Amino acid sequence: MKNLQDTIKLSNGIKMPWLGLGVFKVEEGQVLVEAISSAIKTGYRSIDTAAIYANESGVGEGIKKGIEEAGITREDLFITSKVWTEDLGYEETLKAYEVSLEKIGLNYLDLYLIHWPKEGKYKEAWRALETLYKAGKVKAIGVSNFQIHHLEELMKDAEIKPMINQIELHPRLTQKGLIAYCKEKGIQVEAWSPLMQGQLLNQPELVEIASKYQKSVAQVIIRWDLQNEIVTIPKSVKEHRIIENGNVFDFMLTKEEMDTIDALNMDQRVGPDPDNFDF
Ligand code: NDP
Repeated sequence: MKNLQDTIKLSNGIKMPWLGLGVFKVEEGQVLVEAISSAIKTGYRSIDTAAIYANESGVGEGIKKGIEEAGITREDLFITSKVWTEDLGYEETLKAYEVSLEKIGLNYLDLYLIHWPKEGKYKEAWRALETLYKAGKVKAIGVSNFQIHHLEELMKDAEIKPMINQIELHPRLTQKGLIAYCKEKGIQVEAWSPLMQGQLLNQPELVEIASKYQKSVAQVIIRWDLQNEIVTIPKSVKEHRIIENGNVFDFMLTKEEMDTIDALNMDQRVGPDPDNFDF
């Protein structure tokens, strides 16, 4: 991994950047448009949004601006969105995909995910994702917030295995069991809230490692993801942090440092528990 454009080949051969930009909780408007276009200018090629973020139009605007300013094409980018729980169902999910496409202003997405594993709903939605994939409307399909038992249940009837499982993952929630399971099944793990939404920035062990490399704690965590072969999508709307978070290819954590970070695990979540959520 040498730069922001380095990719992992998913199980279907599609290449996905290791590092992308998340835009959860960023409202439509100029701040969003600028964040995305400056990320693209910085060299980011992957953007992660979702229908429920209610910002897909601004994401689309940012993409257009970024493409123009960076002199690249749409095909150079990797754009992800997700279907929300109330749109889970065969017809509902097919329709939700079209709505997302229209809002973002693209004619295909690179990755479409089932956002949460709502019981009794996600299997029909998966059939819709398979239909979209087989019709060539989306390059790769996957899930988010799926535990091992959800994946097992999904794959009982699935024709196509998910290419991605996007899960909460950071030094306080290292998800070793789920990662091992996904690896065995050829499902690439992607980390959401990799920075634990900013809650780890003063963690002494991380501060110490960061100071050794003259890097920030955020950079150390992102590096830990990459060295663990986890796709990661830290969110920032500040240009200097977008640049900082992408500047992680000139140092390497030692095995001991990786172990120190792993040992911070407390199985602590900042988001909902996939086995107990009410939406
Ligand atoms: P992150 O862990 O990425 O943390 C983002 C927070 O950290 C923001 O407050 C940001 O502030 C701050 N920050 C970013 N970079 C730095 C830095 N270098 N130094 C100091 N502070 C920094 O949280 P998210 O929850 O946003 O997760 C990332 C992405 O994952 C989301 O944006 C979304 O795309 C995805 N996601 C998916 C979920 C799912 O269910 N599938 C759930 C939650 C997130 P500022 O912007 O002011 O810089």
